[in-house]
Amino acid sequence: MTPRTRVRPDAKCPLRPGQPCTLCQLNVTGPQDCGLVQLVMEDDELREGLHRFQLAARQREGVENPA
Ligand code: SF4
Repeated sequence: MTPRTRVRPDAKCPLRPGQPCTLCQLNVTGPQDCGLVQLVMEDDELREGLHRFQLAARQREGVENPA
């Protein structure tokens, strides 16, 4: 029997659509304990701005990569 290797999925940065988490903040292990992500998600205006940014990014992707 061949041993199976576990592959950890790459965590995506919630603040940079389509980009992986690069651990750009100190002492984080990923988006789940990122203080910047927490700060943005807890602020109504920042969260709304992020939502608009994500929608714009998706629209650009759709234009650049039509299915
Ligand atoms: S550490 Fe936080 S802000 Fe930096 S890439 Fe990862 S999730 Fe995004």
